[in-house]
Amino acid sequence: MSNSGDHVVSRRAVLGGAVLGLTGGGLMGGGLAGAGPAPGRAAYAAGGGGSGAAAGGPGFEPVDERSVDAVASALDQELIVLRRDIHRHPEVAGQEQRTAALVARRLRAAGLDVTTGVGGHGVVGVLTGVRPGRTVAYRADMDAVPPNGQVGGGAQPAHLCGHDLHTTVGVGVAQVLARLRHRLTGTVVFVFQPAEETLAGAAAMLADGVFARVRPTEIHALHCGPFPVGEFVVTPGFGLPGQDRGVVTLTGSDATARARRLAADIGALGTVAPPATPEALERLVTDIQTPDGPLARFVFMQAQAAEVEGGAEVRLSYRCWPEDRYVQVREDVRRLAQPQGAAASVAFPNDPFPAMVCPEREGLALRRHLRRTVGQERVGTLHAAVPFNGEDFSLFLRRMPGTFSFLGVRAPGASIETSYPHFGAFAPDERAIGHGVRAMAGWLAGRTRT
Ligand SMILES: [Zn+2]
Repeated sequence: MSNSGDHVVSRRAVLGGAVLGLTGGGLMGGGLAGAGPAPGRAAYAAGGGGSGAAAGGPGFEPVDERSVDAVASALDQELIVLRRDIHRHPEVAGQEQRTAALVARRLRAAGLDVTTGVGGHGVVGVLTGVRPGRTVAYRADMDAVPPNGQVGGGAQPAHLCGHDLHTTVGVGVAQVLARLRHRLTGTVVFVFQPAEETLAGAAAMLADGVFARVRPTEIHALHCGPFPVGEFVVTPGFGLPGQDRGVVTLTGSDATARARRLAADIGALGTVAPPATPEALERLVTDIQTPDGPLARFVFMQAQAAEVEGGAEVRLSYRCWPEDRYVQVREDVRRLAQPQGAAASVAFPNDPFPAMVCPEREGLALRRHLRRTVGQERVGTLHAAVPFNGEDFSLFLRRMPGTFSFLGVRAPGASIETSYPHFGAFAPDERAIGHGVRAMAGWLAGRTRT
C-alpha cells in the first residue's frame, strides 16, 4: 500500500507535520504483550487429518482447515524468526535483492518451481497439486518504505507498511501447502512482488510475463491493517483509489502570487484531509466500514504552487472515489484556471493510475469462507476506500478477478498508529502471521477446487 509516488508535496510535509506529536514517543516495539487470540484454534489442536491415502488416488482427502492448522502450527515460530530477519534488513523499491533471495531459498526448499528476477527482484513460485484443478495466484509485496513515505518522517528505510509480514505470510502459505501437496488439487502461483511503494513493481512483473508460463484465473492478497489481530476485513466492491496528477503553468507578471491563489482554490476541491490525531484515525477506520458513510465519495487533493523559470506552476495530485470522478475533477481544475485566460495552461500528461476496485463476487466468497473458518465476529467488511493510499495490486486485478483483504495487526490495547501503515510507530502484532497463513492456505486450496 503506497502513499508515495507523489511529486507534489512531500508526504512528510503533508502528513508528518500534523502527526509528529502522536508518533514521537516510545511506541515502536511496545504494546505487544497482553491477551488476544492465538493463531490456532483449540478445536484444531489435535488434528493431523492426513489419511495416508495415495497421492490423488482413491480415498483422496482435500486440504481442509484442520490439516492446514496442524502443519501451520509447526511453522509458526520459524515464520516469526523469518519476519524479524526481513524486518532487520529493509530494502526499498528496486533493491529487494536479499529479501528476494531469502524467499527463493525457502520456496525451493519447500519444493516449488521457482523463477527469480521477474520484473526486477520479483520471485515466482509454482506449486502443483496431485489432482487437476484450477490455477490461483497469491501475491505478497517485499519492499520497505523509504524515508519520504514515512508519516512523521524517518531517516532510514523501514518496514512500516508491513511488507515484511506480507512476504512472511506468502512464504508460510507456500510452505504449508507444499507440505500438504498430496492433498492439493490444481496449482498455486506465489508472486513475490518488488517495488510496490513506487507503484512500479506490479507493472514490471506483468511486462516481464509473470503469468506467461502458468496462467492463474484469479489472484489474492492480504495487507496489514488497523484492525484487531486475528480479524480480517474483506473489500468486495471497494479497495483503494488510484492517483491522477496535473500541472497548471502560469505566465506573466505576478505569476507566483496567482499560482498560490489558484493552488488554494484547487486544494479546496478536496473533501477529505489526512487524519492528524489518533481520534481521527479511529474515525477513519469506522468510516471505511460504514455503508454509504462519509467516505462513500471523496476527493483527496494536494496542490502546491512553485516558482519556475518564466513564471509559476501549480502542481497537483489527487485521489478520488468512485474512480470515474477523475473526469469531473479535471474539468473543475480547468474551470478554476479559466479566468487566467491565455496566461494559464492546464495539462494532465498521463492517464490516472488505476484505482484498485475489488470484485464483489470473489470478495463475498472470501467473506463466507472466513466467517465459516475464523468465525463471524472476526470478519469485517470495507464499505469505502481509504482516501490516502494506493496499491498497484490494482494492475493484477485489471487482468483477473481476485481479492485484497486487510489482515488485522493491532495488538490488544495498543494505540491505533501502531497498526496503521506508514506511521513511524507501526509495530504489528506478529501473531497476525499465523492467522494470515492459516486463512490464506485454506482459502487458496479451496479456490483450486471450485
Ligand atoms: Zn503496503
